[in-house]
Amino acid sequence: MQMRSSSSDGKPPKKYYSARKKYCAFCKDKITLIDYKNHKNLENFISETGRIFPARVSGTCAYHQKQLSKAIKRARQMALLRFTEEKKRIT
Ligand SMILES: [Zn+2]
Repeated sequence: MQMRSSSSDGKPPKKYYSARKKYCAFCKDKITLIDYKNHKNLENFISETGRIFPARVSGTCAYHQKQLSKAIKRARQMALLRFTEEKKRIT
């Protein structure tokens, strides 16, 4: 009979995803200042519900993550980005 879990043999469980090196998208493009007016680019770093992706998910470095979160928050204030998910209003 086959065992479902692989942790019983003492080995760590197999990774079900391919290990891919994460990289900072801003370092790659050599962007030093993240502009909040460039909201189309910032949209890639927020989830469907409007939350900012953590650095461990997006792979952004600490230097750029700090700038990114500030830029997203500024863009929200300028109504370029959403605070929460878009819900359809029922009239
Ligand atoms: Zn970076």
